[in-house]
Amino acid sequence: MDPAERRAAIVRADKRFVWHPYTPMDRYIEATQPLVIDRAEGSLLFDADGRSYIDANASWWVSTLGHNHPRLVRALARQAELLCHTSLAGVTHENAALLAEEMVAVAPAGLSRVFFSDDGSTAVEAAIKMAAQLWRNADRPEKSRFVALDGAFHGETVGAASLGGIEVFRRPFAGVLFECLRAPFPGGDDAYGEVFRALERLLRERGHEIAAVVLEPLVQGASGMRIYPESYLAAARRACTESDVLLIVDEVFTGYGRTGPMWACDRAGISPDILCTAKGFSGGMLPMAATLATDRVFDAFRGPPERAFFYGHSYGGNPLGAAVAREVLRVFRDEDILARAAPKAARIAEAFRAMGRLPGVTGARSLGMIGALDLAENADYLGGAGWRVFEEARSRGAYVRPLGDVVYVAPPINIPDDVLDRLLDVVEASVRAAAG
Ligand code: PMP
Repeated sequence: MDPAERRAAIVRADKRFVWHPYTPMDRYIEATQPLVIDRAEGSLLFDADGRSYIDANASWWVSTLGHNHPRLVRALARQAELLCHTSLAGVTHENAALLAEEMVAVAPAGLSRVFFSDDGSTAVEAAIKMAAQLWRNADRPEKSRFVALDGAFHGETVGAASLGGIEVFRRPFAGVLFECLRAPFPGGDDAYGEVFRALERLLRERGHEIAAVVLEPLVQGASGMRIYPESYLAAARRACTESDVLLIVDEVFTGYGRTGPMWACDRAGISPDILCTAKGFSGGMLPMAATLATDRVFDAFRGPPERAFFYGHSYGGNPLGAAVAREVLRVFRDEDILARAAPKAARIAEAFRAMGRLPGVTGARSLGMIGALDLAENADYLGGAGWRVFEEARSRGAYVRPLGDVVYVAPPINIPDDVLDRLLDVVEASVRAAAG
């Protein structure tokens, strides 16, 4: 088939039958010419029309090692010949067992058990249920509330979405989501002491009814790459311990080097009681996630059968995902991914600092392999400013999907230096073009 015809046929079927996530569908069907991705390699996506695009967000923060890393593809193919699926119901297999051991070795100190699930949302869902059942098993069922931050995002399922603090994502499900206790976002230098005291007060006064505090460590991704100080994370850890409240850290976005070290927790020198990981965990090859817990958490589920953790997805610990996740860890070690990302992060920091002075830009920030620009005061997820930059960047060969008025990059953390330079040039030119 002629390539243009083939492309048109794909778009026709897509617009007739596919329901896209987070997408106003009328506008999409009438006005959007979607990218039709045929293949991808490293930091590049290739459209069916032959053009390539730099993947500025690692395809929703997942392809941390770039697309189709040859070692990950080989690990997947090898495993597919042997065993594609078995449950973990009274069964085990080499890759689940050894991956769990290897995860404990790289995780923040004290995390000693690994519970497998499918994606970021289920990793968080498992953490919520783990915390809830722990207090029930400990004969303290009144400790059933969760504290989450204003502007938080922890996933799509009803439990994970209940923790969410972004109004536009909560509104459609109001009345169905459970209510959390909210702590203010610790952004802005002046506000810091005050917001920490608010969390401390909440824990002191209501700790007896709180199961856990849940945090995206150091950066809230979905609410606009909002960065906050390491000292808040360390102080939250101390306050949770003092009030006998669990600390759940959601490293779904921040894990695997996104903020510099393996975990954002490492930057703050803390260990949570429960840690959630997904996305980079399986390097963008297939859905796979894990929720890690300490001995103290795990021990609450030992003893008589009714204390067992009543949770588990059919694909939890999937052999393909587990084989790939093990290879991801080996690639991180063998290719010295974290050390080699440091100069790339410095380049992002420098470029975004400079772009902060461009016309139309009201704020700029960076952390590790993340750089973000606000294009409006009180940048909003439903704002359109970022979409103008998106179109400009697309015409210049980069896929820079915004968060409303926030334009950001979170590329594969092994993005080659020349591709990163090109991406930063495209973002700058696109911001200028969109403003002018
Ligand atoms: N937690 C955080 C911090 C996230 O950023 C996301 C997704 N962006 C999730 C959880 C949910 O992950 P998933 O989309 O894989 O379910």
